[in-house]
Amino acid sequence: MVERLRPRLYVPSIYAINLERLRRRGIVGLVLDLDNTLVAWNNDRASKDLSRWVQQAKQQGFRLCLVSNNFPARVRRFGQWLDVPAVANAAKPRRRAFRRAMELIDTEPRTTAVIGDQVFTDVLGGNRLHCYTILVLPMTEHEYWTTRLVRRVERLVLPQTMRRRRIADAASRASHGATP
Ligand SMILES: [Mg+2]
Repeated sequence: MVERLRPRLYVPSIYAINLERLRRRGIVGLVLDLDNTLVAWNNDRASKDLSRWVQQAKQQGFRLCLVSNNFPARVRRFGQWLDVPAVANAAKPRRRAFRRAMELIDTEPRTTAVIGDQVFTDVLGGNRLHCYTILVLPMTEHEYWTTRLVRRVERLVLPQTMRRRRIADAASRASHGATP
């Protein structure tokens, strides 16, 4: 179980993701959580930085799809703004919405990265399908109490798993001579 909660990569934000490196891994699809990953949970606008990032990712050949547990109106609006397909009411970590997203952007698990701020929805869901999972720090602390509760459990799980991951990453970097 703990294995399934472990992201392949842990970064401060989407802007810290090395897209070129993902490409070299064969990743062509980015399945993106919306709230607290791309925008603050109470925010109704996409920032310039976000629009630019999405644009860049597209230019590099990535196909993007939003997958959110939030309501259709909000998710669809962001999908339109960013000009990417969107799946709402996703019920993550259930697999159905992730499968639908991969269908929409025509990718398969081994060519898809799932990116989100929550271990128990984004990471668990992505790992269940054997996608490449990337955990980002949540953009805001103003969250529903249920999410806050989940965070506490995450903290119990994460430190140990992250430590192991970092050691594995360092070892693989050393053996491949790559820079972080
Ligand atoms: Mg989120």
